[in-house]
Amino acid sequence: MTPIPFVPALDVVYGQAQQVTPFIRRVVAENPSKFTYKGTGTYIVGRGQVGVIDPGPELDSHRDALTAALVDDEVTHIFVTHCHADHSPLAAWLQSQTGAPTLAFGPHGAIDPSDSVVTEEAIDTAFVPDRRMTHGDVVSGDGWTIEAVHTPGHTSNHLCYVLREEQALFSGDHVMGWSTTVIAPPDGDMRAYLDSLRLLLQRSDLTYWPTHGGPITDPGPFVEAYLTHRLEREQQVLSCVRHGNQRIPDIVSELYVDVPETLHDAAGRSVLAHLIKLVDDGLVVADGVPAIDVAFRPA
Ligand SMILES: [Zn+2]
Repeated sequence: MTPIPFVPALDVVYGQAQQVTPFIRRVVAENPSKFTYKGTGTYIVGRGQVGVIDPGPELDSHRDALTAALVDDEVTHIFVTHCHADHSPLAAWLQSQTGAPTLAFGPHGAIDPSDSVVTEEAIDTAFVPDRRMTHGDVVSGDGWTIEAVHTPGHTSNHLCYVLREEQALFSGDHVMGWSTTVIAPPDGDMRAYLDSLRLLLQRSDLTYWPTHGGPITDPGPFVEAYLTHRLEREQQVLSCVRHGNQRIPDIVSELYVDVPETLHDAAGRSVLAHLIKLVDDGLVVADGVPAIDVAFRPA
């Protein structure tokens, strides 16, 4: 597999806002996990009248940290990349404190109620933005400008946000500094995800600020490697099926030998996402509706 040039470990001081660029402060929530790395990075854009991107999880310590960080600021906009429980839940609280509108693509998309596999922190189904943003929408704040870039794949409602003044892209969970991202059907969609990576390659953003992990300062080669990694994985999944490996758990055991077993359920979701695309491409056939417990064979 093509290696991905992951960025070095992030030095985190929980509870404190860190000025990471002239326009950007970051406050990392103390919710480290196998899916969130050191925790959720909430970004504050501007000074005085500010925008907040992904207020983060329901954690008292994070609420306190944001309150302290924003003591001299007026929040005018609350942006949300997508509504997983490590990103959006504090948006409601921040809104109640500030009266600022919440902005996002929309609420969460399809949910599989029978899916008990925990692949990521839960979905914040309560989140509904005050204002919907679609691809290319621009919001002007006090000295800063944010543009929405629709990047479905991780979730169908995932937005990245560009801070035009710094050509900086807040990449949410679409591109992360420390890991690949989980694509969990039905809302996660591998074809959409690959297209959303290609979309970033057409852009000329200088730095990515992911929600989890440090900044990606050379995004072009990073996204190329991310894309190549997925396409190689797709070929591996196809070749497993062609060699008679019909079941997702068996494919995961074969392909994810280097990945800790605690992440195998999540890996299974990504393999399912690849298989759905391969079925769609006419290369694989499923014995029924593609799902974790369904058998797959070559077309
Ligand atoms: Zn997420």
